[in-house]
Amino acid sequence: MTSRRPLIAGNWKMNGLKADADLLAKGLADRYKAQGSATFDMLLCPPFTLIDRVRGLVGGSGLLVGAQDCHRAEKGAHTGDTSAWMLRDIGCGYVIVGHSERRADHGETNAMVKDKAQAAQAAGLVAIICIGETEDERDQGQALRVVTSQVQGSLPAGATPANTVLAYEPVWAIGTGRTPTPDDVAEVHAEIRKVADAQMGGGGSALRILYGGSVKPSNAMEFLGLRDVDGALVGGASLQVDDFWAIAESCP
Ligand code: PEP
Repeated sequence: MTSRRPLIAGNWKMNGLKADADLLAKGLADRYKAQGSATFDMLLCPPFTLIDRVRGLVGGSGLLVGAQDCHRAEKGAHTGDTSAWMLRDIGCGYVIVGHSERRADHGETNAMVKDKAQAAQAAGLVAIICIGETEDERDQGQALRVVTSQVQGSLPAGATPANTVLAYEPVWAIGTGRTPTPDDVAEVHAEIRKVADAQMGGGGSALRILYGGSVKPSNAMEFLGLRDVDGALVGGASLQVDDFWAIAESCP
């Protein structure tokens, strides 16, 4: 079996002013660096306004920096948008695409998410593609069907384990304090790996698949210990140095 290095990714969402970023990024960079040979990758995804600052703060520590969204085009008349190439230019290595908040707030469809992921990959970034069912869909027994169609619809041609990470985030678990059972997560992740493997024409065993949705220090171990879970995408708890670090240290 391919060994997959865990990825602990923090999605700061629309949070943080310069002083907050300084505390958070420096606190985590110091710990990551002090650890010497961390057994996990740690990624910070601040809002656009703070990316350059955070890059400067974590330089030399080994921490990774990414963004929370990108446009599908390289450049042009798209007021207010940011391209993957611009993110690359300021030192991002990753970008989250298709987060459920963007699918809900900005009407992003699988096809749009796929275009963004393709742009990210073309720019040399790793795309973290988010998928996950709503509460109604889970109640109706549709969770596997929904994530299958999201993987099939959002994963671009050319996706590989080197340029893509998938994040399973049940919409009803994001920011709510509620989580699926480990058995449910294990079932969905195994299915996602199978579908992604078929979609990519192989290589699925090397693909990192993160769990996200109300991960905190007290529950991280039960998810991170699962066979097909290769890390976590963390929202609220990524805004506190101690909590985010404790989650990362729960990696097996
Ligand atoms: C997220 O927004 O990606 C997320 C998982 O949020 P939270 O950890 O707050 O549920």
